[in-house]
Amino acid sequence: MVWLAVLAGAIYLLHRGAVMVDADKLPPEVRDLWRSATAKARGLSNLPTDPVHLRRLAWLATVEPRVLAVLRARWPQARRTSAYRAPSVNAAVDGSPSSLHAQGLALDFTDGGSTSDFRPWLDAVRDAVRAGVIPAPLEVIAESNPPHLHIGWRDPLEGAVSAPRYFSEIGDRSRGERRKLVVV
Ligand SMILES: [Zn+2]
Repeated sequence: MVWLAVLAGAIYLLHRGAVMVDADKLPPEVRDLWRSATAKARGLSNLPTDPVHLRRLAWLATVEPRVLAVLRARWPQARRTSAYRAPSVNAAVDGSPSSLHAQGLALDFTDGGSTSDFRPWLDAVRDAVRAGVIPAPLEVIAESNPPHLHIGWRDPLEGAVSAPRYFSEIGDRSRGERRKLVVV
């Protein structure tokens, strides 16, 4: 029965993300999730070192094309602008320390600059979640500064999200206004 205990242990460690993963050997669509213009410009490393984050990013890489397909059906210029952020990079962009980006569980999308109201994007994602096209997120936020759509998920190993929360951000932080999220 020893082999059974060893197997159970190996499965447990794999699920906990405790098995070492060589980030450089992961597929390009996964490695693309930590490519960061901010990190490059500031000489910071954005390489995820936590195996749990790497496991989540490998999952996120399977979700991203589904979100892009939904958005590009209506906004062909839609693109993903941000995914993983190492703590130093997250601080450099003024991200919350508890940001799901720093956990390897969030994606940001824009159209490259011409749209400032992302509530229609939020509605498109909500419809796709209800249709089962996109896994239910933890939070979807139409952000105002800079304008983009933020989507954050719970670690899929922690169970499905039954009630995603959809927010619109009120208050332009660039003008010193307080950020407030309102449920939409
Ligand atoms: Zn975000």
